[in-house]
Amino acid sequence: MSTVSPKDMKITYTSSHADLAAFHRFFDEALEALEGELGKEYPIYIGGEAIVVDGPKLADISPVDRDKVLGHFQLAEKEHVDQAVAAANAAKKSWAGKPWQERVAILRKAAEIMRDRKFHIAALMAWEVGKNRLEAMGDIEESADLIDYYCDSMDEHSGYITEMKALTPIERNVDVLRPYGVFAVIAPFNFPAALMTGMSSAALMAGNTLIMKPAQDTPWTGLEIYKAYVDAGVPGGVVNFITGKGSVIGDHLTLHPGVDGVVFTGSKEVGMRIFHQMSTNWIKPCLLELGGKNPTIVMPSADLDAAASGVMRSAWGLQNQKCSATSRVLVHKDVADEFLRLLIEKTEAIHIGNPVREGVYFGPVINAAAVKKYDKAVAAAHELGEVLYGGGHLTEGDLAKGFYVSPCIAKVPHDSWLMKEEHFVPFLGVILVDDLDDALAKANDVDYGLTAGFFSGEEAEIERFYDEIEAGTIYVNKPSGATTGAWPGSQPFTGWKGSGGSGKGGCGPYYVAQFMREQSRTRIIG
Ligand code: NAP
Ligand code: MG
Repeated sequence: MSTVSPKDMKITYTSSHADLAAFHRFFDEALEALEGELGKEYPIYIGGEAIVVDGPKLADISPVDRDKVLGHFQLAEKEHVDQAVAAANAAKKSWAGKPWQERVAILRKAAEIMRDRKFHIAALMAWEVGKNRLEAMGDIEESADLIDYYCDSMDEHSGYITEMKALTPIERNVDVLRPYGVFAVIAPFNFPAALMTGMSSAALMAGNTLIMKPAQDTPWTGLEIYKAYVDAGVPGGVVNFITGKGSVIGDHLTLHPGVDGVVFTGSKEVGMRIFHQMSTNWIKPCLLELGGKNPTIVMPSADLDAAASGVMRSAWGLQNQKCSATSRVLVHKDVADEFLRLLIEKTEAIHIGNPVREGVYFGPVINAAAVKKYDKAVAAAHELGEVLYGGGHLTEGDLAKGFYVSPCIAKVPHDSWLMKEEHFVPFLGVILVDDLDDALAKANDVDYGLTAGFFSGEEAEIERFYDEIEAGTIYVNKPSGATTGAWPGSQPFTGWKGSGGSGKGGCGPYYVAQFMREQSRTRIIG
């Protein structure tokens, strides 16, 4: 039997360890322990105080099984937003005034706490999101690595304090990056640990105080991130945690005069709304990471088996509910038949079921609204194109209890809305292309520009792809995931065009600096 400790067992999105026996044993133990914790009520936290809101609660229901209530969370109202903003403002001077090294030390401790708790957090996340075991573990591992990577950024730049040139011998010039103040941190459901952690940890180490709001489908994972901060020594008030509906409290939070900046990861629709609304009265940082309509291009010179594996993993991992998921395949007409045969063969072989169980790859979609979106896309594909695989609901046995649909592959016209909008459900559109010009033109002919994949054996084609594709995170010949699998410090995750606002992504070297504003300090010393 392996002697590896739970903490030392590291999983990333591209892990393919031969021996995962110990991992599954630890995961089983965590799932069993979790059963005793289900169904509890959780407060929100403002200024370090636990607060229970009068009235109905937010039931945290597993998409795997609608009868499984993971917990009951508060439905915060606008008054709680006001209180959280006041608490964050009250805490901002002391947190910003701390030496940056102290903030970094506290955050590194939070990363260690996440690693200590990773099996527990991955187990609850698997139920909460409907993520498979390896994906759930990757999410929390990434969270801890994100913190360390951003801490390294602070260390490397000496807290972003830079001695500048003196124009005369009697002056001293220093450039400092300073926090904005209070940030609202709004996270999506699909990477409820990594995105909440990435945004919040960077904002915190830069010296800002926060109001954290997880997606209403994933409040429990969000709460675990808050707890890791507090247990590491981040004072209450510096971090505040509220749960509730974005449609009720979102605008109040992002448009609050006491909020100095917003960092948001989620859909283009909500992100654009925040951007428009904020810009009417304010010039405040509004950091947006939004959706994708990510293409993978397959050329005749490609290793078609590798291409089919890469597309299969990036299209069906987390049921296509990744911002980085491949949702369009542009395959050269000469190899389309063989590529599609391989892709369908690999898709058929996927293990669909309860993703919390060992060996299951593909689970449910997040909620009933996602099932409706899927139905709409499939109906349109029947009307506008040709459905090659899947398209139905899965209701056999226990699957009937959850939000299960089959992976759907369809040939659809490039100009249809199906190929322009993000659906965020397991629907993969296929377009046949004539040559590389055609492939690149169609790949770029969308409002999004997050990730892109390319399979080719020709060096010149690869160089053209690098130079001409309009996307921030791109991959060539990657069978473990054609467009997915970014990791802190290895693949910065940057949305171009409608996929992101700042042009500098999470997981990358320029991220933390975005949470600070520059101040040039000149002092006459002579
Ligand atoms: P979403 O519907 O846009 O929600 C994201 C967050 O915004 C949730 O916390 C939501 O709260 C909140 N919200 C809703 N209305 C709001 C408002 N008016 N003001 C402020 N906040 C509001 O996205 P999702 O369905 O959770 O996540 C999927 C989307 O995220 C996809 O588009 C995906 O591509 C994108 N994504 C992008 C990246 C990236 O790095 N670029 C990474 C992951 C995901 P409620 O849950 O309470 O509605
Ligand atoms: Mg749920």
